[in-house]
Amino acid sequence: MHELAIAESIVELAAEHAARDGFRQVRRIHLAIGALSHVDPRALEFGFAAVASGTVADGATLVIDRPPGVARCLACQVDVPIAAYGDPCPGCGGAELMAVGGAELRVIDLEVV
Ligand SMILES: [Zn+2]
Repeated sequence: MHELAIAESIVELAAEHAARDGFRQVRRIHLAIGALSHVDPRALEFGFAAVASGTVADGATLVIDRPPGVARCLACQVDVPIAAYGDPCPGCGGAELMAVGGAELRVIDLEVV
């Protein structure tokens, strides 16, 4: 379950910000988890609640954006939406697609007190 490791790194990031900027509590953490990122948002929320306990991020809410998967079809030379790696181009049915978006996993911002 790599969501637990991701949750730990989010808590570490929050703790670093807390130490640097002198705040005591993280209220909300805004994340982008791309549809192609292989991260289960529910598993991440569950893992986060466990690892955040007793830290500056204890009780913080995760606000999770889900950017859709986007791939460039090499035949059509256009960007098309895909739900998963290996999906064919919805335009031509071709399989030569290169993912260009939706694989990201990043913290957008932290709301602190
Ligand atoms: Zn195509």
